[in-house]
Amino acid sequence: MGARQILIVEDERPIREMIAFGLRRAGFEVREAEDSRTARNAVADQRPDLLLVDWMLPDISGLELTRALKRDAATRDLPIIMLTARVEEADKVAGLDGGADDYITKPFSPRELLARVNALLRRSSGSDDAEILQCGKLALDRGSHRVSAGDDAITVGPTEYRMLEFFMLHQDRVYSREQLLDRIWGGNVYVEERTIDVHIRRLRKALESGGCDQYVQTVRGAGYRFSAQETG
Ligand code: CA
Repeated sequence: MGARQILIVEDERPIREMIAFGLRRAGFEVREAEDSRTARNAVADQRPDLLLVDWMLPDISGLELTRALKRDAATRDLPIIMLTARVEEADKVAGLDGGADDYITKPFSPRELLARVNALLRRSSGSDDAEILQCGKLALDRGSHRVSAGDDAITVGPTEYRMLEFFMLHQDRVYSREQLLDRIWGGNVYVEERTIDVHIRRLRKALESGGCDQYVQTVRGAGYRFSAQETG
């Protein structure tokens, strides 16, 4: 496999160059675009493996660009990380709602960016087909529907199982209750949003026996995130 290609969409040249430098040094092939229009042409021209999109762009905002790419069947599955100076959780949710796969807030270190890029590339390269999903010490076997933490088997109900499977496929991201309903229950079912909280509680309770209940994290005013990492 050749070098993975990353397209950086950022109008501020010093930032763009700083990012490009770090990624090239890490072995990536890097292309650069300074606005959304150029980015769309670049994607149509040659499909990158991942996009870094700044929120604030001079022509069309990075959020709009992300939305447009996610609406288009040809580019829907392109992994996108949004870069932004916005730190509000509500903005993060807006960014993720717009279809970004991850989010990184400026200022960030080249090392942090690299870690996010690598994590997203890992997640998006066929992890959907993986038989065994792993998060920290928690494992979910999609073949046998078994959940375990280390040597301990964990019993979960069918809804909690589906929820856990979704979370383990989409780790380290915040999902609103509405998004969870949509993605886990599907759009056609009427379920109240607080139903989510009930299943979250049950899932936490089930994970308690394996010492993994803290993986289910409440993000105040935004929703839930599943992560093996402690967050502040
Ligand atoms: Ca910018």
